[in-house]
Amino acid sequence: MRLLLITPPMTQLNTPYPATAYLTGFLRKHAPEVEVAQADAAIELFLRVFSRAGLERVRGQLRAGTSESVDHFLANADAYVATIDAVVRFLQGRDPGLALRICARDLLPEGPRFAATEQGPGQDEDDPLAWAFGHLGTTDRAKHLASLYIDDLADVIKGGIAPEFELARYAERLAASAPTFDAMQGALEGPPTLIDTMLDELAADLHERHRPDLVGLTVPFPGNAYSAFRIARAIKRLAPATRVALGGGYVNTELRELSDPRVFDYVDFVTLDDGEAPVLALLAHLGDPGKPLLRTFVREAGAVRLVTSDLHDIPFIEVGTPTYAGLPLDRYVSLLEMLNPMNRLWSDGRWNKLTIAHGCYWKQCTFCDITLDYISRYDRAPADLLVDRIEQIVAETGQTGFHFVDEAAPPAALEKLAERLIARNVVITWWGNIRFEKAFTPELTKLLARSGCVAVSGGLEAASDRLLSLMKKGVTVEQVARVTRAFTEAGIMVHAYLMYGFPTETAQETIDALERVRQLFAEGCVQSAFWHRFTATAHSPIGQQPDLFGIKLRKPPAITFAKNDVAFDDPTGTDHDFFAEGLRRAVYNYMHGVGLDADPRSFFARRYKVPKTTVPADLIRRALG
Ligand code: SF4
Repeated sequence: MRLLLITPPMTQLNTPYPATAYLTGFLRKHAPEVEVAQADAAIELFLRVFSRAGLERVRGQLRAGTSESVDHFLANADAYVATIDAVVRFLQGRDPGLALRICARDLLPEGPRFAATEQGPGQDEDDPLAWAFGHLGTTDRAKHLASLYIDDLADVIKGGIAPEFELARYAERLAASAPTFDAMQGALEGPPTLIDTMLDELAADLHERHRPDLVGLTVPFPGNAYSAFRIARAIKRLAPATRVALGGGYVNTELRELSDPRVFDYVDFVTLDDGEAPVLALLAHLGDPGKPLLRTFVREAGAVRLVTSDLHDIPFIEVGTPTYAGLPLDRYVSLLEMLNPMNRLWSDGRWNKLTIAHGCYWKQCTFCDITLDYISRYDRAPADLLVDRIEQIVAETGQTGFHFVDEAAPPAALEKLAERLIARNVVITWWGNIRFEKAFTPELTKLLARSGCVAVSGGLEAASDRLLSLMKKGVTVEQVARVTRAFTEAGIMVHAYLMYGFPTETAQETIDALERVRQLFAEGCVQSAFWHRFTATAHSPIGQQPDLFGIKLRKPPAITFAKNDVAFDDPTGTDHDFFAEGLRRAVYNYMHGVGLDADPRSFFARRYKVPKTTVPADLIRRALG
């Protein structure tokens, strides 16, 4: 049996999404008779499009006058075609010498995205980027300029070739909370864009290369779903006997009520929750149809049925070590778009991804999918086993950077892990998600730093004690201030996830939250942040018991495909849309050290609509003592 596991486009470009690596490592241990291969179609598609041959095809399809980016590209197409391969090689870290040419600013065509380079907060009019890179930061400066060049090209593709194309997602709209399969099927069977055609070609090449009996498509996000169906469609057309299975985060979250049989024109199986046990069951079932499936949708007599059995999930201790074997680790592309040292971690550098534990040890937040297995089933492994896994991955990849992708890594587990890393002299660099809870004392943050921790991210959410309590977040703003300061003083950068538009949130609470965030930046507690708009989801306590949170759900549409976000009315009546742009602009400025002395109202277009903050100007300073 030959199994090919594929990550469909698009996902982050700097490092592989880890699902196929986890499953491959697991199956090599638990089903050694199966020939498992993995492919990252996301990086492969990017490298095809962002190449000399790819851009020639793009040029052949563009029409002048479509957008500013398209017109700029057409006017400079020869220069783009001539430079693209060198730029991608540079961003892959395979041609560092090109940095000096890029920094000279006469090699690369500079489209609309480069306007941002003229607006730095620095004082040097001749060199507006000097504040970020100084005179010696040539490599980073070149990486930033090359990233803007790639962003310009992505805008060209979006503007003139495929309106749904982005560097980190493709056609997300067709999948995210899409109640029916209509739009997805329409796009799959309608006229293909050039990106679709290149994706079909890529799928055919993957099939030719691997000749799989079974293809497993992992769909972590809605922005991967269309490509997954497109790859499935292409492979089925070439080899109808090939079986195709779909799984992953998007499926687990949004397709739990799947009932549209048309989905099974493209795939044969849709598995829910952790993939290890369902895939093992599926492999056994394909060898012997009498063997049971686990949490798997199939089409039977034209109807969709969820088939399951009493087979057990695999304990975290037994899932084995992810393996990146077969993935082109030297071809990933590091981008440096935002000039913020913490923010760059998401797009720059190759990070081995690993989880410290399965699920969330807290599992209480009322906006979170705590009823789903990926959050609710908390399962740990001993620290020494984790260090064994880390050593094995370093030996395989030659790379010592780790991103711990837990929903919220438990402080006690991190402490044990740090002690064992230090005791065993394992030198790594790591970062990950946590909750800002008081167990992260100055002593613990220093220990984590000694073990290689360089950054953490965590939820400050609505930055209001009333709303944090409604969320059951288990933290207060003052506690977050103390914990984040402890991290920063230990030399660990901090990113805060922020949320606005929570049920019953008032305009006053939003502006007060921004003021608290301003003070946290000003006091050096956090270095990076991002505001997310609250959405009620079907699997969260708020989505399931809206009355407790003062909101009313709207009548849902009939759902046969995806279900996640649920529309609601909040009688409080705050115009949250009004705040979106000002909140984004404020935090963007704070991340670059700008506007920290300004009244938070100054970031909003119509100041008169925004109440004055009621937060004392020294709130955070006092909390820090
Ligand atoms: S939001 Fe984070 S900390 Fe809260 S329950 Fe979900 S995963 Fe856990």
